[in-house]
Amino acid sequence: MTEHVSHEHDVLVIGAGGAGLRAAAEAAAAGVKVAVISKSLLGKAHTVMAEGGIAAALANVDERDTWCVHFADTMRGGQYLNSWRMAELHAKEAPACVRELEAWGAVFDRTLDGRILQRNFGGHRYPRLAHVGDRTGLEMIRTLQDHDIHLGIDVFMEYTIVTLLKDGDRIAGAFGYERERGRFHVFRAKAVVLATGGIGRAYKITSNSWEYTGDGHALAYHAGAGLMDMEFVQFHPTGMIWPPSVRGILVTEGVRGEGGVLRNKDGHRFMFDDIPTAYVNQTADTEEEGWRYTQGDKNARRPPELLTRDHVARCIRREVKEGRGSPHGGVFLDIAWIKERIPNASEHIKRKLPSMYHQFKQLADIDITQVPMEVGPTTHYMMGGVRVDPDSQMSEVPGLFAAGECGAGLHGANRLGGNSLSDLLVFGKRAGQYAANYAKEHSLGAIDADELESAEKRALAPFERDGGEGPYAVQYALQEMMQDLVGIVRQEKEMLEALERIQELKVREERVGVNGNREYNPGWHTAIDLNNLLTVSEMVTKAALERKESRGAHFRDDYPKKDDKFGTFNIVIRKGAGGEMQVRREPIPEMPQALKQIIEEMK
Ligand SMILES: Cc1cc2nc3c(=O)[nH]c(=O)nc-3n(C[C@H](O)[C@H](O)[C@H](O)COP(=O)(O)OP(=O)(O)OC[C@H]3O[C@@H](n4cnc5c(N)ncnc54)[C@H](O)[C@@H]3O)c2cc1C
Repeated sequence: MTEHVSHEHDVLVIGAGGAGLRAAAEAAAAGVKVAVISKSLLGKAHTVMAEGGIAAALANVDERDTWCVHFADTMRGGQYLNSWRMAELHAKEAPACVRELEAWGAVFDRTLDGRILQRNFGGHRYPRLAHVGDRTGLEMIRTLQDHDIHLGIDVFMEYTIVTLLKDGDRIAGAFGYERERGRFHVFRAKAVVLATGGIGRAYKITSNSWEYTGDGHALAYHAGAGLMDMEFVQFHPTGMIWPPSVRGILVTEGVRGEGGVLRNKDGHRFMFDDIPTAYVNQTADTEEEGWRYTQGDKNARRPPELLTRDHVARCIRREVKEGRGSPHGGVFLDIAWIKERIPNASEHIKRKLPSMYHQFKQLADIDITQVPMEVGPTTHYMMGGVRVDPDSQMSEVPGLFAAGECGAGLHGANRLGGNSLSDLLVFGKRAGQYAANYAKEHSLGAIDADELESAEKRALAPFERDGGEGPYAVQYALQEMMQDLVGIVRQEKEMLEALERIQELKVREERVGVNGNREYNPGWHTAIDLNNLLTVSEMVTKAALERKESRGAHFRDDYPKKDDKFGTFNIVIRKGAGGEMQVRREPIPEMPQALKQIIEEMK
């Protein structure tokens, strides 16, 4: 065995995004010793990129909003595959979590009478997103980070966990390396919270940064947890598409919330052409009504650009496929047109959407206050993740908790914009609370020396393969393949081919070699991440094959309709005793009558 540094904590939080930092704060407040580990620098997690806002029924802008409406919107958006209990807790607890964040120092945009301002977003019936311009994630992470530091939490920046350690069935800690020096570390802990974010890097076109290689999903799978809803990968309708170097970078839904419209190359507002039955009653009939909605008219209904992301993404794809796309293969998103409606539109856009203005100006030399943007779908968010108990967030492995994007349940088949940041607060807090309780009731588990030794061997193997293929070539091949064969529109033949290709890529992954030493060696890090990307890609493909219908973010050309019998179960993946990937259909628990009634009343 090589040398490693050892640490001991009551609660170990893996991930320093919104979910991890909120979990750590709650655990520390409960009086236990907490550590937070992050693959990148503190403050650089994905959460910092969040733009549009945090969804919570504060009812500051429209007094008709309540937790019941938020609950019904979330369930409708998720096409009723959501964990209804998580959707209920989320809708009820999000307002208090946002107010708590404000009390901890977050400075939100304000209404004229000084309350937290809320904006419109896709799938939300009323203006519901508490925001800070289009830099909400930055404010959230800054606030949580300051709060955590004051609580005396140990922070390990630029550390990557590669294996979870177990004592029998229960969790005992985690093993990882330090990016700067390449040294190994063993973190013993009574409870572990996974808060590692998404899997976007499994695809070629994505809004996700380099860190999102599905580590938490893969760590949990290998540790014996169930992974649920892995077929539901969200393709956000509006990513940048030009120039090629910035392809995939997100264009916030906030642009449409502020009055931005989608047009094809003929200038036609195509979103009015196809409105799903479930949303007909809530969608504007005319462009005029849609505009009034974005300007706060409570008697108007939302424009079709604010339908759910899955639907908008597919409409864009249709326009492009049928030859009505923009020059670089997308469509036009126009916010500049609002100058026809309001004075000082240019200043207004810069104030409401400062990051979007700078993003397009600096990366594409386009002034969005004057001309339309070109946009197209981009891999954005993972609805699937670790299956958890809705109240405690504990996974099927005792002592292992999960929260945020690497957890599953709240969003079902499709997440509504803004519901992730609120998810991080509500369930990050719960995970921290229950992990602290678990730590108080249990002692440290034993570390198995053989398990540790084989984890070290696996991590160092790429250095032994002199002349092996570089990890980037394999990663790129996987991303291209997932984009082409398991992307926004799927079919059986292509997904079966994808499974074969994944097996071939696994063989290549086992032969990947890296040069140099262990200090700051990105090639080595990529080689380690590759295994996680392959594991999650296989899970996504197998779950997508199993769901023989189209629902939410999962669209199949060979089964283009929603099928009621597929609305009664979630697909859960586990590692079998022989190491095989098992795929099961597990029934959704019966929803209590009171919640059913809320959904009926909100239709
Ligand atoms: C551009 C963009 C805009 C968005 N806008 C919004 C919005 O307006 N509203 C909204 O609700 N949602 C939005 N989202 C989605 C939302 O930001 C994310 O879903 C959310 O921030 C995820 O938070 P998290 O805490 O689960 O994980 P993250 O913030 O992704 O953090 C994950 C953490 O885990 C660490 N980590 C990962 N793997 C390892 C490992 N192996 N070892 C150690 N550490 C590890 C990372 O370093 C990081 O610290 C947006 C997303 C993007 C990309």
